[in-house]
Amino acid sequence: MATRVEKQWMSDSAAIGCVVCRNLGYGRSPAEIHHIKAGCGISQRSSNLKTLPLCHAHHRTGGDGVAFHANSKLWQEKFGTELELLDQTVIDVEKFRESIIGRAV
Ligand SMILES: [Zn+2]
Ligand SMILES: [Zn+2]
Repeated sequence: MATRVEKQWMSDSAAIGCVVCRNLGYGRSPAEIHHIKAGCGISQRSSNLKTLPLCHAHHRTGGDGVAFHANSKLWQEKFGTELELLDQTVIDVEKFRESIIGRAV
């Protein structure tokens, strides 16, 4: 079960769009939630906060030649590691939330 904080995180991170598409300059693509594998098992309780927003192509069908779930090793060599992209997503979600609230912290 996802907590309220986890649901908000997943909804906000999906709202900013696929992190890979944005890094490649494709703009905001509709995203689905990918639960990252890195660090899995260390803290099961926070697993719903360890997610990346990925479009269907970069996630499952093969955007730019590789889908995460087809070849996660090659994917991370091309686009960055899960943890690097998670760090970026945390910062981007903070900016997104500030923009909604309408003031910088
Ligand atoms: Zn994408
Ligand atoms: Zn996934």
